[in-house]
Amino acid sequence: MKKRPYIISGPCSAETKDQLLKTAKQLVKHNSIDCLRAGIWKPRTRPNSFEGVGETGLQWLKETGDAVNLPVTTEVANTRHVELALKNNIDILWIGARTVANPFSVQEIANALKGIDIPVMVKNPVNPDLQLWVGAIERIFQAGINNIKAIHRGFSSFEKSAYRNTPKWEIPIELMRIFPEIPIICDPSHIGGNRSMIKVIAQKALDLEMDGLMIESHVSPDEAWSDSKQQITPKKLQQILSKLVVREPKVNNKTLKNKLDVLRKKIDGLDEEIINLLSNRMNTVEEIGDHKKDNEITILQADRWKKIINDRKKMAREAGVSEDFIQRILKVIHEESINIQTNILNRKKKEKKT
Ligand code: PEP
Ligand code: MN
Repeated sequence: MKKRPYIISGPCSAETKDQLLKTAKQLVKHNSIDCLRAGIWKPRTRPNSFEGVGETGLQWLKETGDAVNLPVTTEVANTRHVELALKNNIDILWIGARTVANPFSVQEIANALKGIDIPVMVKNPVNPDLQLWVGAIERIFQAGINNIKAIHRGFSSFEKSAYRNTPKWEIPIELMRIFPEIPIICDPSHIGGNRSMIKVIAQKALDLEMDGLMIESHVSPDEAWSDSKQQITPKKLQQILSKLVVREPKVNNKTLKNKLDVLRKKIDGLDEEIINLLSNRMNTVEEIGDHKKDNEITILQADRWKKIINDRKKMAREAGVSEDFIQRILKVIHEESINIQTNILNRKKKEKKT
């Protein structure tokens, strides 16, 4: 039987009681969702951004949940947040990506949760470190919490990418292998960082047999106080959800899942990363081309090329990959780089003549 994905939606942040209630009412009018989300304390990367309404928002969230008959969830990042969330009868807690990256904070939350029966969702850490994610889940599990879900929200990186947080699908796939019994919810809003990307990412998550989706929604997304680009109206959520295809998994029992299938999905994710990295490399090659042109430097500098080959062969040796294989790949990449730079020089020459 096809399993319907578990759907969590609601605003990035609770802003006012009215915004929360209007969003929730529209969500239940247009959709069948399982849980209402809203951030009360917002971990912002830079100072002077909206950092959440704080404690008063907890009451709005719970009252809104009661009004639309939905369980509610919010992010907790320290002991005080946990205590206040429990005092206000928040139904489900989630631990955010920045907090999961810090084992001290996760342990503090786990200690505050000892002996309490509440579901907890653990987002992946901001950095692509599977062990940190596993460790956070283990800490919460050791606190006696049995109802745990993992949330895949992508990983930040310095390189420019189409994603706000690159999905690195092979990491949640590996998590599924380690904890086959823990459901994984995908958060396409924070992976894409843009509302236009939500559907494609959500579909991919379902095709990887993830168990649910957390999608940010807002009555007027463009006016949202945080993450406005990635939020959608409840009506738009309905359009997206109705277009998603829930495919039948080949093997129903996750633990019996065909190993080949899991490995192939891992390969798909790795190939996507290789292509993104190559695209990034070629963009940098173009920048170098411009610089060389402006400063009249030759395209090919033999000593630099020799150094590249030697360095990369050493890296290959250390990484346990065949040196000859890496040398052949580098040759092809280098040829493409030279073509790109030659085109830049020629294009500019022509431009100058006219
Ligand atoms: C959020 O869900 O609004 C949030 C802050 O997420 P993350 O921890 O994934 O950045
Ligand atoms: Mn957000």
